[in-house]
Amino acid sequence: MPSLKETYPLYLNNKAQQPNTDLEVTDKFTGKVAFRTALATPEIIDQAIAGAVQATEPMAKLASYERQAVLQHCVDRFKERFDELAYALCVEAGKPIKDSEGEVTRLIDTFRIAAEESVRMYGEVMPLDISERAKGYQAIWKRVPVGPCSFISPFNFPLNLAAHKVAPAIAVGCPFVMKPASMTPLGAIIMGEVLAETDLPEGAFSILPAHRDGADMFTEDERLKLLSFTGSPAVGWALKAKSGKKKVVLELGGNAAVVVDRDADLDDALERIIFGAFYQSGQSCIGVQRIIVHEDVYDRFRDMMVEKTKSLVAGDPKDRDTFIGPMISEKEASRLKGWIDDAIDGGASLLTGGGCKGNMLEATLLENVHKDAKALNEEAFGPLAILQKFSDFDDALAEVNRSTFGLQAGIFTRDLFKMFDAWDRLEVGGVVINDVPSYRVDNMPYGGVKDSGLGREGIKFAMEDMTEIRNLVVRRN
Ligand code: NAD
Repeated sequence: MPSLKETYPLYLNNKAQQPNTDLEVTDKFTGKVAFRTALATPEIIDQAIAGAVQATEPMAKLASYERQAVLQHCVDRFKERFDELAYALCVEAGKPIKDSEGEVTRLIDTFRIAAEESVRMYGEVMPLDISERAKGYQAIWKRVPVGPCSFISPFNFPLNLAAHKVAPAIAVGCPFVMKPASMTPLGAIIMGEVLAETDLPEGAFSILPAHRDGADMFTEDERLKLLSFTGSPAVGWALKAKSGKKKVVLELGGNAAVVVDRDADLDDALERIIFGAFYQSGQSCIGVQRIIVHEDVYDRFRDMMVEKTKSLVAGDPKDRDTFIGPMISEKEASRLKGWIDDAIDGGASLLTGGGCKGNMLEATLLENVHKDAKALNEEAFGPLAILQKFSDFDDALAEVNRSTFGLQAGIFTRDLFKMFDAWDRLEVGGVVINDVPSYRVDNMPYGGVKDSGLGREGIKFAMEDMTEIRNLVVRRN
């Protein structure tokens, strides 16, 4: 089994530095200190932003093949360091080892896609002579990098969600400063170690663990031209309000729903929904929280779901049999346990689970939850799923849309018309047919509407956000 070092540096203007070892990061299963890393001070953040400003022009001048070579280097090195990266995630996030390996596989995909896209920054030639006034004119537009970017990433996918910002930035030639989540900084730090092996211009990147209260510069500094934030809706919208003239991309949370229609293959739906609801202990922004099942198959599906949920193995994330690991903290587990208890006090039936010890919360299923309960309406972000019944497909879609969030939704149906109806009417960033809303491939457009965010990730789409269109008008007379 790989091991971790006792201390890790931060990365300031492409170089490892160890100004302190002030950030203590725990193994989320044992609760013991796993390693220590440096915390960026305001002076360090300032130097990083100044470095990114200096690197703006050299980064923009890199040729496509040079940007591609950097990204390909990362792909190769991540493959070589696969086991070490998976182990790091398993320890710092408490993510079951199989899910950790899945995340490293996705990290490699994300950088591979970015390497491919980095040589496809196309523009367009447009005839402008649409009327006599513009006879002899044409336009050519191209994309130019937006400049220094600020990236803030969450704890639950420490590697791949950092990658969804870092890889497109390199693909378009933007320097960046990144603040990983303080509870899980190691994924991004190792990414910094790999990037430091390349010959990116000095100042191209800084990876700076920082406490929330020291993180204002990532949002407010006017030298930064884009803020890309992935995290909770409350923090994301508050940061947007403080972000000044920057472009802002927000990838926030949700309480994703899946609809199981009466013609669905229930065995298949069950397998996918168990995964969607409970993988990495439900700590996914598109984890299944609401399961809306047609009344004709409701009882059968509920019984299947209860039986399967009871069989999930909980325990040490380093154990390959473990499906449910710890939540990120005891505080988060007891927050969700409180919501479950409140729902039960409000009349909900507990079908299975509900127990909580430290940061281990049992996989929990509820039904008959009151429509105003927090457990139904807020983001659970833990191993809780709620069964609901519908009789009319329109009502099921309306129930999905009742949420203030809108990230992704899943529909199990064999009816083509219902598929298109759902695609037209659901207020979400993406509809997944015959699978859970938790499904994501790293090149697809991904993001939310309503409280769930602003803008899209998925390499090509993030690259669009990280560039501006610059037009050239040519008159030929
Ligand atoms: P969080 O909002 O607590 O923290 C996210 C990041 O913001 C962390 O790096 C944190 O340190 C930083 N942060 C917090 N307050 C800050 C401040 N005032 N100034 C600057 N930075 C600040 O979220 P979390 O608990 O790490 O992650 C869970 C949340 O992320 C959930 O809501 C989840 O749905 C969401 N999420 C969304 C996506 C997506 O792609 N849409 C993906 C994963 C997670």
